[in-house]
Amino acid sequence: MNASIITELGNAAAFQSRSVETPQPKKDDVLIKVLFCGVNHLDVLIRQGKRPGPKIFPHVLGSEIVGKIDGETVCVYPWTFCGKCKQCREGNENICDHGGTLGRTQWGGYAEYVAVPAKNIVKLPKGIDPIEAASILLAGTTAYHLIKRAGVKPKSTVLVTGATGGVGTVVLQLLKNFKCRIICATSHPEKKVKLQSMGIENVVSTKSLVEDVHSLFPQGIEYAIDIVGGTIWSKALEALAKKGTLVFCSTSRDEPGIVPIAKAFNRELTILGSYGGTIKDMESILTLVSQKVIVPIVDSVFPLSEAQKAHERIENQAVFGKILLQTT
Ligand SMILES: [Zn+2]
Repeated sequence: MNASIITELGNAAAFQSRSVETPQPKKDDVLIKVLFCGVNHLDVLIRQGKRPGPKIFPHVLGSEIVGKIDGETVCVYPWTFCGKCKQCREGNENICDHGGTLGRTQWGGYAEYVAVPAKNIVKLPKGIDPIEAASILLAGTTAYHLIKRAGVKPKSTVLVTGATGGVGTVVLQLLKNFKCRIICATSHPEKKVKLQSMGIENVVSTKSLVEDVHSLFPQGIEYAIDIVGGTIWSKALEALAKKGTLVFCSTSRDEPGIVPIAKAFNRELTILGSYGGTIKDMESILTLVSQKVIVPIVDSVFPLSEAQKAHERIENQAVFGKILLQTT
């Protein structure tokens, strides 16, 4: 089969477009003919060696897969899980004790075919284009889980950092559906313009995040959803009102977030980590897409052989919405 492989960790030039052996499905696996595979910031970090990744090469990245089995179009849940541990039994397969990620702990979807566990397969609901589905499987499921974890109430005031990426653009749409007052923080002037074009009135600078939020909302904000991490995580925490909630799924920054402990306990803040999402979350977000409540934003579609270009586009921070690879 054709695939965009890496033979080592490194820069985007590490990609090679070549023919490799089609994976043989193991017991309980199915072989999928890939139609589209989403390209995530996570893929870039794995390829750079900044997240736990493959030890055996060549490796095929890609965790957001829509493809065909026996003529039927299906979506693949991006995280592998055992189905037996305590967390799996309680419906938290996203934090399975033996979990992994397609394209990280096993070959993923930057290829014509991928072998995945049959229990990861969800039928594509009616009324969704495969491109739309591939755009939200990982990012949309993560976004849905973030909002669910935080228990965001309708019409509340919410700060979102990293709002222009794959997760962020879905978070914004979910919050709009909840009629929330949204504040976005960004450091890029061109992203500010795009956020305003999406109807976000309050766009503040990440540099002066705390001051800007407090000048708009002197009491602080009720929820902060941080998709960036590092020092921005700390600023989001500081911008919260008393009893405020910070939920985060930060993977994009390597520096540690510093918790101003004194500023957290005496305002009775709630700080929640959020890791991916469950199969139920994925089904919920797919339903919202089929109902046109969520409209996935596609940045660009590259042929499978141009994975390098797709990664460079993410590294150059030129992305607004989702980048996809198309296999056919
Ligand atoms: Zn498990």
